[in-house]
Amino acid sequence: MGTMAVQQIKVARAVTPKGVVEDALITFDGDRIASVEAGAGGGEGTLWAVPGFVDSHTHGAVGVAFGDPSREANMKAINYHRSQGSTTIICSTVTEPIDKLVEQEKVLRALYEDGEIAGIHLEGPFLAEAKKGAHDPALLRDPEPEYVERLIEAGGPALRMITMATERDHSEWATKRFVEAGVHVAFGHSDADDLVTAQSIEWGADIATHLFSAMRSIHHREPGPVPVLLADERVMVELICDGIHHKAVIAAMSIDAAGPERVALVTDAMSATGIGDGRYLLGELEVEVKDGTARLVTTDGTQGAIAGSTLTMARAFEFVVQEVGVSIPDAALMAATTPARWHGLNDVGELAPGRFADVCLVDDDGVLKGVVRRGEWIVGP
Ligand SMILES: [Zn+2]
Repeated sequence: MGTMAVQQIKVARAVTPKGVVEDALITFDGDRIASVEAGAGGGEGTLWAVPGFVDSHTHGAVGVAFGDPSREANMKAINYHRSQGSTTIICSTVTEPIDKLVEQEKVLRALYEDGEIAGIHLEGPFLAEAKKGAHDPALLRDPEPEYVERLIEAGGPALRMITMATERDHSEWATKRFVEAGVHVAFGHSDADDLVTAQSIEWGADIATHLFSAMRSIHHREPGPVPVLLADERVMVELICDGIHHKAVIAAMSIDAAGPERVALVTDAMSATGIGDGRYLLGELEVEVKDGTARLVTTDGTQGAIAGSTLTMARAFEFVVQEVGVSIPDAALMAATTPARWHGLNDVGELAPGRFADVCLVDDDGVLKGVVRRGEWIVGP
């Protein structure tokens, strides 16, 4: 250990806030970027340097669900995601009893305070039964003040985001209360129509949790939430680009509509990520992963709801480059810059002096070839 430190990287191109720098030399000062300069000469190969990925919606990996009582278990999952390019992650929980969520927040808050993760995203329990996805319906509830205050207090500064169905009782109060506490309210797992969706943005909701999934579909006479969320400049939309949650053409349409400055690539990865097919627990519910697709196990043999993904940020990046036809700089915006900016993570998300030395190396096809985090090699070169 200690031999992994990187002083500098030469690449064919570096994606920076000022544009693409050709034949670039990136130098580090400890765990920070010192400079990104053009025309370094001898930039061998064809690799691109892009900012380390920022995954703002992930539930775990390698058999571990974030919020597990064991710190070591959480670190195993964090390290797996780092190896897939996610140098920054916000850890997501699923619907659980409030007492258990408070316990999970404590575990994750300690990891946040140690700089291992960038925050907590509570997905539930204030979700709609009609759009519950893989959340336990018995545990869904309204955002009553007592619950809201307990979750805010337990998360403290680590609590960055909560996904809510804003048609539930108390939603106006709860949305404003979360926003006041510095927590982004994300519209999701909701049965709201277009009007209620628009209203929730007025209250302060500014993120769409996995656009399209667990919300009403678009219909030309009943537009539902999707067009509202795509059109409103105040909203960042999450896309799960695994080719399973929605097809590539839907990603293309969404990126065209919102622009890469308002789209975040997320994994929504569950604990099965990185270990393959089999049966797993998601919160209190059993999930079967088959050919990489996670679905709830049903008792009557019918097809269960899609239950998170086994996606990695490396694969999502590849997917938008190869299947959606997005440029590497636009993919970098959606995989790093946009989510970092939206969540106020000012130390990451850009290859610029002063930011953390978090870099992903990708080829022209968007395939991940190397990862540097805080100035040390995680993967490669
Ligand atoms: Zn999720």
